[in-house]
Formats: sequence, C-alpha cells, structure tokens
Amino acid sequence: MPARLLQRPCPVCAGPDHTALFNKHGLQLVRCRHCSMVYVNPVEEDWADGSRYDQLGTPFYLSPDKLQSDYNPVRFSREIRLFRRFVPQGRVLDVGCSTGAFLFHLQARYPGEYEATGIDVSGPALDHAESKGVRVLRTSFLDTDFGPAPLDAITFWAVAEHLMDPGRFLRRAMELLRPGGRCFVLVPNFRSLAVRLLGQRYRYIFPQHLNYFTAGTLGRLASTLPATRVLHTTSMHFNPIVIVQDARSDGRFVPDEERARLLRKTTGYKNNPLLTPVRHAISGVEALLGTCGLADNTVLALERR
Ligand SMILES: [Zn+2]
Repeated sequence: MPARLLQRPCPVCAGPDHTALFNKHGLQLVRCRHCSMVYVNPVEEDWADGSRYDQLGTPFYLSPDKLQSDYNPVRFSREIRLFRRFVPQGRVLDVGCSTGAFLFHLQARYPGEYEATGIDVSGPALDHAESKGVRVLRTSFLDTDFGPAPLDAITFWAVAEHLMDPGRFLRRAMELLRPGGRCFVLVPNFRSLAVRLLGQRYRYIFPQHLNYFTAGTLGRLASTLPATRVLHTTSMHFNPIVIVQDARSDGRFVPDEERARLLRKTTGYKNNPLLTPVRHAISGVEALLGTCGLADNTVLALERR
C-alpha cells in the first residue's frame, strides 16, 4: 500500500505559499515564497513520524561500513573541535545520536569532562551506542522529562534536515539549556559547491531529508527562537569523491549500502599516510569553501541568553 502523503507549511516561517523547485523520482522539493526555504512537500507519513528509521538500522546505520566510518577517530573531529571551543565541560545531550559515535569520541578524548547522554528513535542504532558505553534514552526528545537541572549543551549533528518541524525541536532545546548554555546545529548546505555543481543529482537530495537549509534559512529559523543569540556560523566538510561519483550518475537514489561503503572508504583515506599531500590539498579547498559558505554542511552555534 503506498504511504500516506502529508502536506506541510514552511518549516522555517510556517508560511503556506510555495513554488515547485523540482521533482526527483517522486520527491517534490518546493521553495517558500516568503523566506525562500527549500523543503519536501508533501512528505510520506513514515518519514514524517520517524517510524522508517527503525527499519533502516541494519542496511545503513548498523552496516559494518557505516560503523567503521563513524567509529574512526577522524570522524567527528571537526565537530568536536568546534564543540570544545564553546563547551569546555558539562552536561551534554546529543539529539539523534544514532550509534553514539560523537559522544563516544568526545568522552574518549576528554575523559571525565562531560556527562553525556544520547537520545534517538532508532532502536538498533541505540543498542550499538550502549554496547560502546554511551548512555542513551530511547524516548522522543519532545516528550522526555530531563529533570530540573538545566543542560550545558545540546547537539543536533545532521538531524534537523530529517524533521517535519525542526523549529519545535530547537525551541525545546533552548528551553532545556541553562542561561549561557550552547546548542549546535549542523545540516547539509543547500548552497554548497556540490549542490551547485550537481543540482538534483546530488545523493543527499533523497527521501530521508525533508529540509534543505542554507546558512541564510538556518539563521532565519534561529531568529524565531526565544532568548537565543547566534554565537558562530560556519561551513565544514568537503567530499570531492561524492561530486565525481554523482556527476557520473544518472541521478538515481544511491542505495544505503553504497553510501555507507563510500563513507568508510573516504574515512580510510584520511588515515592513509601515503595520501597526506592529497589530504592537505583537500583540506585547503575545504577551508576555502568554508570561508565562502560553500562546504558540504552549514553549522550554527547558538547560546541561550
Ligand atoms: Zn518560509
């Protein structure tokens, strides 16, 4: 039976008016007429309520390739550097923690400095996080009582693009922070060099991603949050192999197993000493793209006033 389709307003400004941008194999992307946010509309019900993620455990999040990539020490190194700059210690919640790799690396690198918990809706991924010693909650973030003590930091690494109503999650996050507490939001950058070169052939324009932010639209969403100050905006990560592969493709959706395999390979390249010169060249390009806001992901660090 085909999934039920849900219509939605703009996830940034709640405006109802939009124009069609393109349709990729049935995935309809539209642009808000008011704030120019790009988002999927309509959305299949089981992507909207998160129930599809339980089924995704084995083919993607728990595939040996994806796990090997996530648990490689270089994975999350940029996120951890940014996080440390603004949060030297304290109580941390990682929303959409998946297999727990960010918190695992953070605690391994800075033992005793963070009291960390992850929360997610994907049961099999959380089993893996627990097996690595990461403390997890198997509840919905919006419905969970986190107790009276406010949090020092909340992270959303590649999560907000999956949510029907990302503003609701970020509002809740800001409420849970102490004054001066920090919230980090990383999303794929719809203004990246990769999107500019590939258009709709880009592999990360696919059914799991409901929202396609730029630094501008993410900033606009942050401006709707109460008692929130933007501390830092940046753009990070660059994977030229994805650009080369997707440029050659016919724009089909890339299967989960294939995406996982490439992630493991590229993480492996980052550890190969023979590739040091290539890596330096790519890092140089990444830094340049980051400066121009054209790297693969756009990131905001927010502070509760
Ligand atoms: Zn809008």
